[in-house]
Amino acid sequence: MEFEAVIGLEIHCELKTKTKNFCSCKNEFGFNMNTNVCPVCLGLPGALPVPNKTAFEYCIKAGLSFGCDINDIAIFERKNYFYPDLPKAYQISQLEKPICLNGCVEFEEEGLEKSIRLNRIHLEEDAGKSIHDNLTNSSLIDLNRSSVPLIEIVTEPDIRSSSEAVKVLETIKETLKYIDVSDCKMQEGSLRCDVNVSIREKGTDKLNTRTEMKNLSSFKAVQRAIDFEIQRQIEMFKNGEKLTQETLRWDDEKGVNYSLRSKEESNDYKYFPDPDLLPIKIERDYVSKIKNNLPRLPKTRRKQYIEEFNLPEYDAKVLTNDKQISDFFEETLKQFNNPKQVSNLIMSDILRLIKQNELNLEEKLPFSIDNFVKLLKMLDSKEITRTSCTTILENIFITNEDAIKCAERLNLKVNDNEDEILQIVLEVIKNNPNAVQDYKNGNERTLTFFMGQVMKASRGRAKPDTVTKLIKENLK
Ligand code: ADP
Ligand code: MG
Ligand code: ZN
Repeated sequence: MEFEAVIGLEIHCELKTKTKNFCSCKNEFGFNMNTNVCPVCLGLPGALPVPNKTAFEYCIKAGLSFGCDINDIAIFERKNYFYPDLPKAYQISQLEKPICLNGCVEFEEEGLEKSIRLNRIHLEEDAGKSIHDNLTNSSLIDLNRSSVPLIEIVTEPDIRSSSEAVKVLETIKETLKYIDVSDCKMQEGSLRCDVNVSIREKGTDKLNTRTEMKNLSSFKAVQRAIDFEIQRQIEMFKNGEKLTQETLRWDDEKGVNYSLRSKEESNDYKYFPDPDLLPIKIERDYVSKIKNNLPRLPKTRRKQYIEEFNLPEYDAKVLTNDKQISDFFEETLKQFNNPKQVSNLIMSDILRLIKQNELNLEEKLPFSIDNFVKLLKMLDSKEITRTSCTTILENIFITNEDAIKCAERLNLKVNDNEDEILQIVLEVIKNNPNAVQDYKNGNERTLTFFMGQVMKASRGRAKPDTVTKLIKENLK
């Protein structure tokens, strides 16, 4: 019997609003414990929540980016459960009337276009954090995270492999970063994922008993946890054991999972509309306005780069990986319309310099587009060689020194003085009698060797056309 995996994801993502979801405490990571708190997010009795309009807008933005329907009315509900990091003993969430319904995540895998349906995207609040302190053998509670805005993206069980699950996550992360609603840092917990896994006989469409694994904190962990769970369920089936619906914890170090608790149903949470928060009517004009201001998504950009700019697929992918780079590329084209040349410099030099200097792409690049255009123009008119271009870039990337001035300062403007170049050519020919003989014996490739030697001796400045011409003339 051949099995297939059935996988659904629940993805939680912290929104980067200035303040929390229902109070005006700062929404920032890494503050001293329990300092970003107030009566509302501490869950003190009688404190009243006020919805955050920006969080609402971000949730709609996310929904529109995945083609969701935006509900006319959204309702906040209380999801009741006890946990030490949840002082109110309920989480404000949404059940019957979430902000976004339906939609899908589209991506490409091994040349195939795939689409995974979404069930919903809703807005809720994060809980606090329990910290286990081995020194005092006690647990501490930090409520800075309490009430930070979260969206939960729930997929239908359309995913069939761990690699597909990772693709879905990558696409979601890329999209949320592009529309600038979350920084999606898995290591800081601003993007978290629960996976639901079941197996069935291939070719059937039954939904069998599933397990859920909580809070996987890297793509790698998601992949390994799913693969492990699929194997575990297949083994159980083969041994005639019955799978129970439960919540599991993945231990990424040991590479195994273990049972956390039996699975709760939504009616265990006794959801009911929060009496402190009125239903919210979402005007169509408001939604249209958000829609009209959405940035172009990576998928659209990639298509344009390939079809309109004639770039290879590889370039299109690399350039759209990060929104700032993609914007940088497009802005540069407005002043220097040679897509392949711009792409080459970004891919070979600029991305390398960003990495070498450990620049954070969340922040604006120090190197300006105007300056980049000056450099591109010098290269295009052959005032500088390709090698010098890299040298100049390395010198001005952080300081943003004027490209032309830098070329002059470093004496990198191409030398087209035939007399000077001739001196070098003659010198090189004199010093390499064996290569000269080779050339005379008909080995054309020695030309490249001479070319290299002359360029080196001129410190990359000799004009290549002139060098070739002079070498050929003098080898005769
Ligand atoms: P809950 O809120 O109790 O976790 P949901 O019905 O909202 O339950 O489903 C949660 C996730 O589980 C969704 O991503 C859904 O696609 C997935 N899912 C539902 N049934 C199955 C199944 N039989 N196998 C795998 N995943 C499933
Ligand atoms: Mg769940
Ligand atoms: Zn607060």
